[in-house]
Amino acid sequence: MMRFDIMTLFPDLVSTVLTESIIGRAQKSGAIRVATYNIRDYSEDKHHRVDDTPYGGGMGMLMAAPPIYNCYEAVLKRQEEEGFAARARRVIYLSPKGKVLTQTRAKELARDYDNLILLCGHYEGVDQRIVDEIVDEEISIGDYVLTGGELPACILTDCVARMVEGVLSDAECYEKESLSDGLLEYPQYTRPYEFHGRTVPDILLSGDHAKVDAWREKEAKETTARLRPDLIDT
Ligand code: SAM
Repeated sequence: MMRFDIMTLFPDLVSTVLTESIIGRAQKSGAIRVATYNIRDYSEDKHHRVDDTPYGGGMGMLMAAPPIYNCYEAVLKRQEEEGFAARARRVIYLSPKGKVLTQTRAKELARDYDNLILLCGHYEGVDQRIVDEIVDEEISIGDYVLTGGELPACILTDCVARMVEGVLSDAECYEKESLSDGLLEYPQYTRPYEFHGRTVPDILLSGDHAKVDAWREKEAKETTARLRPDLIDT
């Protein structure tokens, strides 16, 4: 079982995404556990403020360190109350400054840890001291900036969780899909045989598995070279 604890100002946003479809099913079956925490609940300010202006001036507001630290302590406490003792834990701050998430990194996270604690920033981000104090790694989901870390946390959770044992059925296996071996997936077809005058490549109807495999390999290489030549280079 892998456990994800998500610290955010918008827990409903995260729960809505992660209780649907395959990840929702995985939570129900117990293959993963996703717990959300509202950082605002851990503010000691009487108005439950969680942000403040940055020292040195500049635009926008920053999320302050104390409510996040209190929230982090609450995560550890809840884990203990629920009888969960992490074998290997990683605290990740979703941030545009982090290394961009790849399928390889997601696979490593699923293999090496049974607990990911995810911190979602908002506004202009978080006080650097909370990063220095509790964060093991910063991960970005791409070279662009979003309003908050909630969608990135959902993406990371989805991507890692589907590689946890028991989350995907054999039919949904992740081993033979785009990026699993550094290549993009070959084109796939289902019924009807003809659609708007376009037919399915005849080799897929030949019943010759060796020929189908060879065709798929050739198509995967061609697709990768055409759409993502950078993957071929690396
Ligand atoms: N001022 C920050 C900067 O320039 O690096 C950007 C803050 S952003 C508006 C607010 C929050 O959204 C960040 O703290 C982070 O949690 C999240 N975020 C934005 N873009 C992201 C990305 N590409 N990957 C992961 N998290 C992101």
